[in-house]
Amino acid sequence: MTTLRNLPSVEQILRTEVAAQLIARFGRSLTLDAIRFVLDETRARFKSGGITVLLSIDLILAQTESTLTAWTQPTLTPVINASGVILHTNLGRAPLSKSAIHAMDLVSRGYSTLEYDLDKGQRGSRSIHAESLLQKLTGAESAFIVNNNAAAVLLVLSALANKKRVVISRSQLVEIGGGFRVPDVMKQSGAKLAEVGTTNKVHISDYEEALIEATGLVMHAHRSNFKLVGFTEEPELNEIVAAAHGFGVPVVDDLGSGALYDTAKYGLAHEATVQESMQAGVDIVCFSGDKLLGGPQAGIIIGKADLIAKIKKHPLARAVRADKTCLAGLSATLLHYLKDEAEREVPILKMMSLTLKQVRGRAEAWAAELGHGLALSNVEVSVVEGESTVGGGSLPGESMPTFLLSLEVKSAEKFLRGLRKNNPPVIARTENDKVLLDPRTVLPEQEGALLVGLKNVLNY
Ligand SMILES: *Cc1c(COP(=O)(O)O)cnc(C)c1O
Repeated sequence: MTTLRNLPSVEQILRTEVAAQLIARFGRSLTLDAIRFVLDETRARFKSGGITVLLSIDLILAQTESTLTAWTQPTLTPVINASGVILHTNLGRAPLSKSAIHAMDLVSRGYSTLEYDLDKGQRGSRSIHAESLLQKLTGAESAFIVNNNAAAVLLVLSALANKKRVVISRSQLVEIGGGFRVPDVMKQSGAKLAEVGTTNKVHISDYEEALIEATGLVMHAHRSNFKLVGFTEEPELNEIVAAAHGFGVPVVDDLGSGALYDTAKYGLAHEATVQESMQAGVDIVCFSGDKLLGGPQAGIIIGKADLIAKIKKHPLARAVRADKTCLAGLSATLLHYLKDEAEREVPILKMMSLTLKQVRGRAEAWAAELGHGLALSNVEVSVVEGESTVGGGSLPGESMPTFLLSLEVKSAEKFLRGLRKNNPPVIARTENDKVLLDPRTVLPEQEGALLVGLKNVLNY
């Protein structure tokens, strides 16, 4: 009769050649954990009647290996973005330029001048790295880089408006996503919210009346992920600045996306640029590194030197500061703008500037490639018109025309699941039961892998 006594012991298993190989690959302690885990599982399944015959030592070892493989599988891995959403927050937002990747790689490999002054041979400051580039690009007096823009907003408010009134329009009390709500961030920073106007209509007189009472800051926040349409009115940023400065109150603009270029160039709506915000006289502007700028995750704070100095000195500044890879990648990205080569080098700008003819050409090449062997499967392959979006809380409701590879398959959901199982996984979308893939967001070097993935799922 089979009893639990027949189950091999940990010692027996460890004496095998296969166990020795597993230990060499995965380390002793993890391998031991996995063996015990598999034995425990086996015992439990045996007791509950899930299995009636105890596993052989070979099967236990095979299960140990698959357990170890699963445990050590990285969870953060590259995917192919065929969704047509250029700044897909869930897929890591902006892919980086070759120089940005190279710069990040270089500083990761060894020691660097992160906080070291080579001239003086002593401690330097990490805050100098992207600063001069930002000064040249935007005319700002000073800059400070933090982990992301959410941290930038929290830090700026904490440093400049703790226990003070912050005047903001009701139309800008927004939630950016992921629980980041402007009123909550204000509360967290210790600022006292002073709302002006109504949801749809705000007049400059609303600001002026609010400013009569002692105020620490006027905040302007980009709406990012929705549009206000219809019976609406808001003063221009320079009018708000004039009103605030009239009362000696500084203005902070949370731009969110923070483009350094005019998005109208790509057939999209005009998104307020960093330069425009500076020209309107705003004292502090903050924006993301990995949205329309196309760099690594970062929060960029630029503006008046005295205010930036105060921000840098706040205890939170140390908690949210940027790391060396971020500073290296961001500097390399900013340099593309300074050298006027961004459209050639920054991947998201390359995606936005693809012509319809180019996208169509790629979609048609994919269709042609898949066309071979179509007789075997009952799949309809075609190229259809569609739309790509910017995403990432940038340019809500805006899209750019594109061409899509369309696959009419039996079950679109099942097909998408198959694509996600590919290595690297392919993220596509469905519409009216068709699987759609947008060439705009697929990096050229990933096209080969994409086609292999498609063929795998199509079973050629
Ligand atoms: C995206 C966004 C943020 C948050 O920026 P992260 O870099 O994602 O932290 C804050 N404010 C606005 C207006 C945004 O659009």
